[in-house]
Amino acid sequence: MHDWAEKLIAIQELDIRIAKISEQLSQIPVKQQEAESLYAQQNRDYEQSKLQLRELEVGYKNLENEIVSQKEKKRTFQSKTILIKNNDEYKAALLQIEMCDQVVHNLEDQQLELMFKIEEAQASVASQRQALEQAQKRTASVKEDLEVLRKTCEEQIALIKRKREAAAPDTDPELLKKYEHLRNSRNNNPSQPCVIPILDGVCSRCRIRMTPQTCQDVLKGKIVLCPSCSGMLYCE
Ligand SMILES: [Zn+2]
Repeated sequence: MHDWAEKLIAIQELDIRIAKISEQLSQIPVKQQEAESLYAQQNRDYEQSKLQLRELEVGYKNLENEIVSQKEKKRTFQSKTILIKNNDEYKAALLQIEMCDQVVHNLEDQQLELMFKIEEAQASVASQRQALEQAQKRTASVKEDLEVLRKTCEEQIALIKRKREAAAPDTDPELLKKYEHLRNSRNNNPSQPCVIPILDGVCSRCRIRMTPQTCQDVLKGKIVLCPSCSGMLYCE
């Protein structure tokens, strides 16, 4: 392998490591967001279950009030009944009392049904609260892990950058410029190499066969780009 290729590949390895760690680093806010939105969803579920319970309790209270007012109504009829002398009026009043009883009976049935629903809703609130507490712990632990990862990534990148800075002066500045231009070009994946070996006359990145002239030039150590994928070619 030619000297220039060896030096450039050493730099390329460092650049690829930086790119891969940077990629990991860029995923951290996304993962933090995911963890937070899972917690937020759980919180919404919990609030929703509390709301359902409150609505049922309000419904129960309303029935309670209606029962009280029906009983009041019945008492009013009963007190009036004592004063009635006319037989028909008396019968009508008794019917009203009976109707009050019937209404109260229906309301109490509804209350009983609601009571079962309230019990279910209370159990649901309790289990949602438990799930929320777990989600809270999980989110905190995920965020803590991500914070550790972020610090590690940043330290690693700083370390590798220092190594790269130390290695760069060893390389021909023109060549380095060309390489950096290639790396930063739009079509280049920063986590993949752009300095590419020729193997058996074939570009090992895009698998295109090189002309004998290109192979000759590469063998001589000339800087040649692959005509198909623009990789900077070298021979091993
Ligand atoms: Zn190629």
